[in-house]
Amino acid sequence: MRAHEAGALHGDLGSRGPAWLRTPGDVNALVPQLWPRTVARADAGDLTVGGVSVADLAAEHGTPAYVLDEDDLRARCRDFRDAFADADVYYAGKSFLCKAVVRIVAEEGLFLDVCSGGELATALAAGFPAERMGFHGNNKSVRELERAVEAGVGRIIVDSFTEIDRLTAIARRTGTRPGVLVRVTVGVEAHTHEFIATAHEDQKFGFSLQGGAAFAACAKILDEGVLDLRGLHSHIGSQIFDTSGFEVAARRVLSLQEQVRDARGVELPELDLGGGFGIAYTTQDDPSAPADLAKRITKIVESECDLASLRVPKLSIEPGRAIVGPAVFTLYEVGTVKDVDGIRTYVSVDGGMSDNIRTALYDASYSATVASRASDAEPILARVVGKHCESGDIVVKDEFLPADVQPGDLLAVPGTGAYCRSMASNYNHVPRPPVVAVRDGASRVIVRRETEDDLLALDVG
Ligand SMILES: *Cc1c(COP(=O)(O)O)cnc(C)c1O
Repeated sequence: MRAHEAGALHGDLGSRGPAWLRTPGDVNALVPQLWPRTVARADAGDLTVGGVSVADLAAEHGTPAYVLDEDDLRARCRDFRDAFADADVYYAGKSFLCKAVVRIVAEEGLFLDVCSGGELATALAAGFPAERMGFHGNNKSVRELERAVEAGVGRIIVDSFTEIDRLTAIARRTGTRPGVLVRVTVGVEAHTHEFIATAHEDQKFGFSLQGGAAFAACAKILDEGVLDLRGLHSHIGSQIFDTSGFEVAARRVLSLQEQVRDARGVELPELDLGGGFGIAYTTQDDPSAPADLAKRITKIVESECDLASLRVPKLSIEPGRAIVGPAVFTLYEVGTVKDVDGIRTYVSVDGGMSDNIRTALYDASYSATVASRASDAEPILARVVGKHCESGDIVVKDEFLPADVQPGDLLAVPGTGAYCRSMASNYNHVPRPPVVAVRDGASRVIVRRETEDDLLALDVG
C-alpha cells in the first residue's frame, strides 16, 4: 500500500515540474517569473534582495518576515500604468495596504481602491488624494459612506438598492454629488486558468444583469438625479489567466451601456473592468504581461463599442495581486524536518496559516527554496508546513527541496505580497510578521512585527 502510494506520488512528479528540477543543484535555480526582480543567488549561495542578504534580513528583523522588493513593486506599478496609458489603474488595496505602499502607489501615478473604513483611513492617513480613490463593498455602513463623502472619494461603487438610498440621503443632506459606478454581475465566473460564463448570477456582489436589477439601479440613480452616475463596473474574479473571461464580461456590460443609452439617452462616460490578473505562484503558471493584457482588453472594448455605435468610455482596471503579489516573498526559518514513513518529508517553518491562509483557504499552490545557502544534495519532494495546531496548516503543498534541508535553514516562499499579510490572523496567538521593504542595499520596517504585548493589549478582561 505504502509502496503503491509512494509510486503514485512519483507518478505525479512528471506533471508537477520540469524534469530538470530533479537533478542535484537545480533546486538552487530561481525561476525569474516567481521572484521579485532584484532577487538573486549570491556566489556564496544565499539569496539577496535589493543587494541585501536574506541572512542579514533575518538577523536584523527576525523570521518569519514578509520581504518587499521596493524597486520591483514600483516597476510593476509603472508596467501597468504605462501599458494602460489611456486608462486609470486602481491598485486594489485589499491585496495589501499600509501607508508606505499607499505612498508608493501614489508616487507611481496609480489610483487606489479601498473596501472598508479601515482601508480608507489608512489611505487618508498616508495622504492619498481622495478624489483618486474608489470605494467598494457590498455592505458599506452609513458611517463608512459618510466618511467617504466627507473625504471626497472620487467614486463609490454602489452594490445594492439599499446603498443607493443611503448614499442619496447622505448626498442630499450634505449638498454633495458623489460620483458612482454601478457594480454589475455579468454571470462570468473566473477561476485559475479557466472561466465559466453562466446564465445565473448567484453571488452577493453587484446588481444582476440578466434579472434586470442592473438596469433598474442605473434608472433609479438617473431618476433621483442626486448621484453622479459615471459608469458601470464589472469584476469577474481573481487569478485569471484567460482573457476571454474579460471579453465576455465586457460584451455583457456594454450591452447594458447600450440599453441605458437607448432607454435614457445617456452614454455613461466610464467603464471599469475590475482586476483579477493572474500571477505565477509555481513554474506551472504563465501570466500575461500588462502590455498584452492592455492590448487585448482595449481591443475588446473598442470593437464592442464599434458594433453598438457607442463612444468608447474611459476605461479603468483594478489590479491588486498582479502588482504587489510577486514583489514580496516570505522568509521563514526551518524548525523541524520529519520524514514520514518514506512517503513525504515535512519541513516545518516558524509561521504558517496565520501568515498565509491561502493554501488552506483556496488550495493555493506556492513554491519555496532554501534561501540561506545553495545545496548539491539530491532533490526530495517536500511539504512545507507551519507551526499551528491544525493539520491543514500547509504553506507549500509540494516542492523539491534539497535532501539536506535542516533546522536553521532559511526558507523563502515567493508570491506572498497579496492576500497574505492582509489576511493574516493571530491563530494560536502567534503574532503577525513584519513587512520589511528593501531597496538599494538597505532595509526598513514598514509594518512592524506584532508582539505578545500587542496581543495582550486587546485582552482587557
Ligand atoms: C479583489 C478585487 C480586485 C483585485 O483583485 P486582484 O485579484 O487582486 O487583482 C479588484 N476589484 C474588485 C472589485 C475586487 O473585489
